[in-house]
Amino acid sequence: MNGVPPPWLAREVGAALARAAPCIACGACDREAPPGLSPQRMHRLVLDGRLPEAEALGLAQWRPMPACDAVCPSRIPLSGVLEDARREQARRQEARARFEARRIRLARIAAEEAERRRAAQARAGGDAVAAAIARARARRDA
Ligand code: SF4
Repeated sequence: MNGVPPPWLAREVGAALARAAPCIACGACDREAPPGLSPQRMHRLVLDGRLPEAEALGLAQWRPMPACDAVCPSRIPLSGVLEDARREQARRQEARARFEARRIRLARIAAEEAERRRAAQARAGGDAVAAAIARARARRDA
């Protein structure tokens, strides 16, 4: 997939696919899938571009299941579509995790820089006070 989302993730393409090979909700694929996984429901959500909802139904556990493809009377390529969707969702989650890690790293760097600036200003302030005291003493002792 090389990081490129599958074209059917565009809703209009997904809708066209659904029209071309409509699911008749016979449930045959669900009976072939491992318990708790519903390729029928995940497939419907995926073609509608709703990957997070498909994820909530166990998309991450999906692996190609030729038995599901074989029993589908509409000849829907469930295995391939769901496998592409699983990879795409994983890619999105990794991108989100990288973005969040970067955001945290930049916030930490900004906080460290602000602390360095505060410390430098405090040192500069202390130096100015010390210099003023020294000048006053010099005038007094002159
Ligand atoms: S086997 Fe095919 S037609 Fe039947 S529910 Fe599954 S996807 Fe739909």
